[in-house]
Amino acid sequence: MSSQRFVARHVSGLPRSGIRDFFAIVSQMSDAISLGIGEPDFVTPWHIREAAIYALEKGKTSYTDNKGLIQLRREISTYVENFFKVSYHPDEEILVSVGVSEAMDIALRAIIDPGDKVLYHEPCYVSYSPSVVLAHGQAIGVPTTAEDEFAINPDRLIAAWEPGVKALILNFPTNPTGGTVSREKLERIAKFAVEKDILVISDEIYAELTYEGEHVSIASFPGMKERTIFLHGFSKAFAMTGFRIGFACSTPELTEAMMKVHQYAMMCAPILSQEAAIEALRNGEESVAKMKEQYMQRRNFICRRFNEAGLTCHVPRGTFYAFPSIASTGLSSMEFCKQVLEAEKVAVVPGTAFGPSGEGFIRASFSSSYEHLIKASDAIERFADGVRAK
Ligand code: PLP
Repeated sequence: MSSQRFVARHVSGLPRSGIRDFFAIVSQMSDAISLGIGEPDFVTPWHIREAAIYALEKGKTSYTDNKGLIQLRREISTYVENFFKVSYHPDEEILVSVGVSEAMDIALRAIIDPGDKVLYHEPCYVSYSPSVVLAHGQAIGVPTTAEDEFAINPDRLIAAWEPGVKALILNFPTNPTGGTVSREKLERIAKFAVEKDILVISDEIYAELTYEGEHVSIASFPGMKERTIFLHGFSKAFAMTGFRIGFACSTPELTEAMMKVHQYAMMCAPILSQEAAIEALRNGEESVAKMKEQYMQRRNFICRRFNEAGLTCHVPRGTFYAFPSIASTGLSSMEFCKQVLEAEKVAVVPGTAFGPSGEGFIRASFSSSYEHLIKASDAIERFADGVRAK
């Protein structure tokens, strides 16, 4: 008899991550070039790895305070104040987590009562809607569009409001579109949150990888710190995905609520990763700037190539993802990805993996070497030309 009957209904109803399924196929192809990956192609800067090695040599192998090492929380407080212009107290308002993934999960579980509604803009990072459902909430996706260069649109968010909405998830620069939001639009969203008494969960994991304009945190607006859970992490800008480390900042009450979920589910983030994160915040600025410069050059290259190939591509203002339209080929996102993989052995992700508004688009990560980007863009152009010629 199948053990499926033991699986909770809200879990069995969840879709599998489209990216995972797709990359299960790619991983079996030794000669494929992948622009599918959502992580830096850089190895973690040496001085950060060295901090973890040194901590290990010194025998730092224990649990830490549930909230994270106080030295790390102090560094986070200083960093967030300098970069994001929001001041959080290291003792009461900062919680170190196992990546932004865990931070998002505990934030949602800390605030959602069964049936509470959560707005989010899509296409978006694959975990948001499932994480709301796992917390017994109801996720309401609000489309962003190519006409807006996938910038978060306050009018659409406001129009999507309905009774029962407790929170709004924001992510900018946005995975997968590279879209972001202007200060003026963010101000309107903040005003809307205050008017409707909504909590904002703001995932700003790509903030340092903003190429045009300044990154402004919604938590920095007057009256917003009290209604924002600010999430950030080390995976992207510091190239530390495998360290699994991030953090959540909020009011003492909300931090305490998240702490309760975190301490029972996770206990604490790994100590070696916390030691490495201290070094990243103290001395990582130069390494981040160097990687950012590389991403920016690659971004300009790949967007130019997509446009030349007839795949209209807005220039992403942040992240390391391009999100070109494949409309000129007449294929669906999934058809395009399957066929280009089969014909040219190049892996890109269907836009629909990130929400229904991703139909007609693909996500191509430019966290890849120039050599790969050149080969992949040649192959994609050849493929698109071939499809259009049929
Ligand atoms: N948030 C966004 C927008 C992401 O793109 C990702 C990873 O791709 C995450 C969160 C997860 O980050 P972490 O590695 O810190 O769990």
